[in-house]
Amino acid sequence: MESRATTWRSKNPERAREQSRLYRLKNKERIKEYNAQMYKTIEFKQRRKQYRGKYAPIVKLKRWNNKLKIIEIYGSKCAHCGDNNPYHLTIDHINNDGAKHRKENKLSAFIYKWIKQNNYVKDTNLQLLCWNCNMSKGVYGFFPDVLIPETI
Ligand SMILES: [Zn+2]
Repeated sequence: MESRATTWRSKNPERAREQSRLYRLKNKERIKEYNAQMYKTIEFKQRRKQYRGKYAPIVKLKRWNNKLKIIEIYGSKCAHCGDNNPYHLTIDHINNDGAKHRKENKLSAFIYKWIKQNNYVKDTNLQLLCWNCNMSKGVYGFFPDVLIPETI
């Protein structure tokens, strides 16, 4: 049988969410302490092992769908050579300040997550490039089709 609190929560999801939010805000330190203790338990480690493989494909699919949405917003093709294969396309920082951008926002590699968190607002410093164009621009400073070997 469901407890009264569980029943109430399922009938008032918005109020329940708000209550949880306030609780978390008020008890930050307590929760932190609780989590730190919990992460050390064998049960937690076992559960994490058990779920890791199970949710990975869902997470992957969600990330991929998010990437596809972003690719569409940014024009669906490489801004330099026109390659439109979504597997080849990446987000490029036009001003080559991707490292700084990632550091400031603690992004690691998740630029797509950051774009999502910013409600998909098109950033003027971002563009789509395929991997070849992006790597060439990043490593050599110019695009592969204008590469003249004698000048390197
Ligand atoms: Zn390209």
